[in-house]
Amino acid sequence: MDGDIMGSIQSLKGTRDILPDEVAYWQWVEGAARRQFAQAAYQEIRTPIFEDTALFARGIGEATDVVGKEMYTFTDKGNRSTTLRPENTAGVVRAYIQNGLAAKGGIQRLWYSGPMFRYEQPQGGRQRQFNQLGAEVLGSKDPRADGEVIALAQDLLQGLGLVNLTMDLNSVGDRSDRAAYREALVAYLTPYKDDLDADSQDRLNRNPLRILDSKDRRTQEIVAAAPNLSAYLSPESKTFFDRVQQSLSDLNISYRLNPRLVRGLDYYTHTAFEIQSADLGAQATVCGGGRYDGLVEQLGGPATPAVGWAMGLERLMLLLKGLGPAPQSAFDFYVVSRGEAAQAQALKLAQALRRQGFSAELDLSGSAFAKQFKRADRSGAVACLILGEDEAIAQTLQLKWLSSGQQASYGQAALLQDPAALRQQLQQARAAMSEA
Ligand code: ATP
Ligand code: MG
Repeated sequence: MDGDIMGSIQSLKGTRDILPDEVAYWQWVEGAARRQFAQAAYQEIRTPIFEDTALFARGIGEATDVVGKEMYTFTDKGNRSTTLRPENTAGVVRAYIQNGLAAKGGIQRLWYSGPMFRYEQPQGGRQRQFNQLGAEVLGSKDPRADGEVIALAQDLLQGLGLVNLTMDLNSVGDRSDRAAYREALVAYLTPYKDDLDADSQDRLNRNPLRILDSKDRRTQEIVAAAPNLSAYLSPESKTFFDRVQQSLSDLNISYRLNPRLVRGLDYYTHTAFEIQSADLGAQATVCGGGRYDGLVEQLGGPATPAVGWAMGLERLMLLLKGLGPAPQSAFDFYVVSRGEAAQAQALKLAQALRRQGFSAELDLSGSAFAKQFKRADRSGAVACLILGEDEAIAQTLQLKWLSSGQQASYGQAALLQDPAALRQQLQQARAAMSEA
């Protein structure tokens, strides 16, 4: 250190700051999601950001990319293998089992929002710390539950104004359907082994279904003629898939059947879906999910059917920024003052207004009025309150409506006396602003 000039510390690769300008988008999405989940009787759940590594190894599957390559795993000071959660379904299911939510009977409808961690190559829409919003319905094997969760995702995205969305849908069947299909797929692919991309060669024995969504051109050509999973669905699985599709039709949700759609995590059964946006480029999937009827049991709980999804919020923000500014909550007053007595009164006035439920920003600069007025204009407030030396002596203020420039004098106490009337005036001024 001695005499060294220290460089400033930078955020780590694959992480980013969400600065106040951008936070407006996040709060908008969070508010919309919270309202929508409440309307549908989903309750929020918050689980730890790090968990026992075994939870993900057992829940997501050793052969997946997420567990095999992407986890942030470390040994803590107590020698426990600990992992920053790469997704949250496993954590929610652990909490469901551990806290006896299953014993409460009936259906649990849950949602969450928070950071996830995957060691990936960062690029547009792909980070190492990223945020997911998710919904999980535990305890229902009714295909209407699949329809309900999918509709929630669709409504949320559409309610935010997104267009150009498409949804892919598939059924990956149950465990025995998949075992039969897996055998057929491996038998088909093995003669082409040397022509597959390196990743797919590696997956041929570990996780052959994932070869179906390889991005490699030659692999895709080979896969195009591979047997279809749909031909391996049992009559029961087929019936279930038909009923899921029926519920989507009932809800007027359009989708494209994609027999190549398999999800990255092992625990999916039956329904699998992804919602993509044509406006996102390479990382096009905003939301992915499906049914995971085996997971609760696999993690040591009672056999419990379940369905859910996770939405990538960074990708959603990219889309929303392309559409325009986030709706801002309206701001009431910008308070400017000049001179010691006026400054002291302005400080008190701003606080008194906030206690009455108004929003008020106090200019702390002490600069000339002209400069303070400029800031008032840029602040987004509806009105400016002005306290100069004369006003300080008379205990008054000037109220200037920033859109019209109209100004009126008030006693400081009088302004605070009738908050209902003041609120109404603000509303009228705001309406006039939005008409202009
Ligand atoms: P991808 O194919 O893009 O890697 P995935 O199948 O790994 O996605 P899921 O595990 O299904 O993704 O997660 C659901 C959603 O979370 C994705 O559709 C995406 O929107 C988002 N997501 C996943 N990984 C990342 C990441 N590293 N950075 C940002 N968002 C991500
Ligand atoms: Mg991934």
